[in-house]
Amino acid sequence: MLIFNSFSNKKETFKPISDQAVKIYVCGITPYDTTHLGHAFTYVFFDTVIRYLKFKGYRVIQAQNITDIDDDILKKAKEVNQNWRDLGNYWTDRFLSDLKTLNVDLPDHYIKATESIETMNHMISKLLSTGFAYKTEGNVYFDVRKYKKYGSLSRLDKKQMVLVAKERGGNPDDKLKKNPLDFILWQKQKKGEPFWESPFGRGRPGWHIECSAMINKYLGDQIDIHGGGKDLIFPHHESEIAQSESYTGKTPFVKYWMHTSMLLYKGEKMSKSLGNLIMVDDLLKKYSANEIRYVLLAHHYRKPWEYDESMFLEAKRSIAKIKKALTMFKTKGATYPKKLPEEFTRQMEDDFNIPNTLAFLIKLSEKIIDSKNVNNATAYSLGQIASILGFSF
Ligand SMILES: [Zn+2]
Repeated sequence: MLIFNSFSNKKETFKPISDQAVKIYVCGITPYDTTHLGHAFTYVFFDTVIRYLKFKGYRVIQAQNITDIDDDILKKAKEVNQNWRDLGNYWTDRFLSDLKTLNVDLPDHYIKATESIETMNHMISKLLSTGFAYKTEGNVYFDVRKYKKYGSLSRLDKKQMVLVAKERGGNPDDKLKKNPLDFILWQKQKKGEPFWESPFGRGRPGWHIECSAMINKYLGDQIDIHGGGKDLIFPHHESEIAQSESYTGKTPFVKYWMHTSMLLYKGEKMSKSLGNLIMVDDLLKKYSANEIRYVLLAHHYRKPWEYDESMFLEAKRSIAKIKKALTMFKTKGATYPKKLPEEFTRQMEDDFNIPNTLAFLIKLSEKIIDSKNVNNATAYSLGQIASILGFSF
C-alpha cells in the first residue's frame, strides 16, 4: 500500500513501526463554531482511511485533541458574553453529534487540552532542563536554534517561515523571544484570563505543545500516521516535530505525514476568519449523511476543491443507485466471495484514491441494476465496499 508522505513529498510503501497496532493522530478542533464542511472533509477522509486499515486487518489506535482553551475561544466567549468553558463544551457536543451523523467513528482517545495540562507541564519541564526551551518573564519558549531540522516538513526558508508565522498567530515580533521563530510553550497569565498553576508560574499552555504531549501520553514516542489540514503544516506540525524529537531524542516522531487539502467556497478558502462557512448541520436539513459523505469522498484528499451545491445532484443520484443495487442482494442461499474486487483494493492502496473507488462503486451498482440475473457475489462486494467507505444503508 502506498501513502503520500508530506515529509518526503512522495508516495512511500506503508509499513507500520510495530506489528502490534497502527498509531494515528489527527489534529482536532478548536470548539467555537464548528462543524463546517472543511472540517468534515478532513475527518471523513481519515475515518475512511482507518476503516480501510481495519479492513486490511490492522489494529488501529487513534487519538485526537480538542483545543478547548486558546486565544480564539476566549475572544469568542467575550463577543457572545458566554463562559469560555460552556462555549467550548457546547461546540464540542455539536461537533461530535455532526460527526456521528456522518458516520465518523470516534477516536479511541479524545482529549481536551484543559484535561492534559499536567502532561504538557511535564514535557515543558524536560525541554527546559535539557536546554531546548527558555523562560522569559513568565513565558516559556522553544528555542528553534537548538533543533537544526526546523523547516524540514514545510520546506520553507527562514524568511518564508517568519512571514507565515506572522499570518498564523506565531508572533514573530514578540520582543521576549531570542529568535522570531521561537514558539510559545507556556504563556504567562494575562489579566482576567483563566490560568493553571505550573512549575513556571500561572498561565496556560501554547497550542503546539498540546498535540505533542497527547501523542506522547496516549500513543508513545513515535507514531505511524499524523494527519491534519494542509494549513497546519507550518507552524503547527513543524513545531510538533521539533519539540517531540527534542523531548524523546527519537526520530522520526511521525513516519507518515498526511495532509488534506483546502476546501474553497466562492473562490476563497472556507474559514472561520473569512466567515464563508458551509455548516454540516445546515446541509443535514436538506441532504442525507450518505449524500454529504459522498460529496466529500468524491474529491481527492490532496487536491484543493471548490464547493458548489450542485454537487449534491450527482451525490443524490449515486447514493440512490447504490441503495437500489443493494436491495437486489439476496441473503438466502448466498455465496460470499473471499476477496473484494481487485479494482477496489488497487485504488485504495494507491494513496487512498477514493474518487476512483467511488466511480468503481457506481459502475458496480449499475451492473447489478442492469443485469437480469443478479450476481449475489457482486452485490455482496458492493455492500462491503460501501461500508468500508463509511456509507450506512
Ligand atoms: Zn495538532
